[in-house]
Amino acid sequence: MPPTNHSYSKVERQYELQVDWKVANMERAEYADIMNLGTSALLILVGGEEDQKYFLVHENIIRGSSALMQKMLDAPCKHPEKRIILLPKDEPAAFAIYYQWLLTGKIHTKDSTQYLEIIHLTHTCILGHRLQDVDFVDSVHDAILQYSTETHDNKLRALIVAGAFLYLEAPEVASTKSLIVDIVAWLLRREDATVSEMQDLFTLAYDLVESEPHFPKDVFQVVASMCASQDRTPLSLEDGEVYCKYHCHGENSICYKKKIKASIGVSEETDARSTMQARADPAEHQVEDPIE
Ligand SMILES: [Zn+2]
Repeated sequence: MPPTNHSYSKVERQYELQVDWKVANMERAEYADIMNLGTSALLILVGGEEDQKYFLVHENIIRGSSALMQKMLDAPCKHPEKRIILLPKDEPAAFAIYYQWLLTGKIHTKDSTQYLEIIHLTHTCILGHRLQDVDFVDSVHDAILQYSTETHDNKLRALIVAGAFLYLEAPEVASTKSLIVDIVAWLLRREDATVSEMQDLFTLAYDLVESEPHFPKDVFQVVASMCASQDRTPLSLEDGEVYCKYHCHGENSICYKKKIKASIGVSEETDARSTMQARADPAEHQVEDPIE
């Protein structure tokens, strides 16, 4: 019996809209490209005591992308079926974003709430370093670059807060530090900020994040060198060299962007394995100065 208007609920309408959207955007793909998810699931507990969350993840997927997970899972374990991986220093929200990226290749950090997107991006960047996942860190670096070119409320202050946080949490990671320093220096230079305005911005930001002296020092050095050379050229997101400048894959590893291009047939430089399928295979990543 067809539903009457009375029984036609909002939930049913939402479901119908979702189905319509899926049909309208139907995309067929190669059977051979179906991800090998394997049969093993892994329980991961993320967060400190006040904010903890369990995640059940496909072992194959995370093992193929995170060098740290690969090492942990290869370590001898008396009862592997009862194994729980603990990530007490990381945020559950950051891990949720990471796992979505593993499954879809998308970084779900967009949020209209002020500062929330940049907070997500910094936490996921730290998580990526901790997990020693080069492709993920490089993707997040590109996302931070994209964010820096968009219009956001108090963007400069948000990026300074992000820089202070990244310097505190990832002090040994050169590519991340140089990325955030160059972005902040470029924005300050573009706005012709005076020294006292710069100091005010850093003071305001440091009310939110513990003081870390090296970050402003590094930014001021870059701003000074840009002023000396009259350089105020914005970073060009179209330039692949700019992207790789802030990547940590190194010369001997393939950039994740090339892997994606290969997977959709744009480039002939690599084999046509999909990026997702590649994640399901053991990784041979080298990470610069992984953080503890
Ligand atoms: Zn690259």
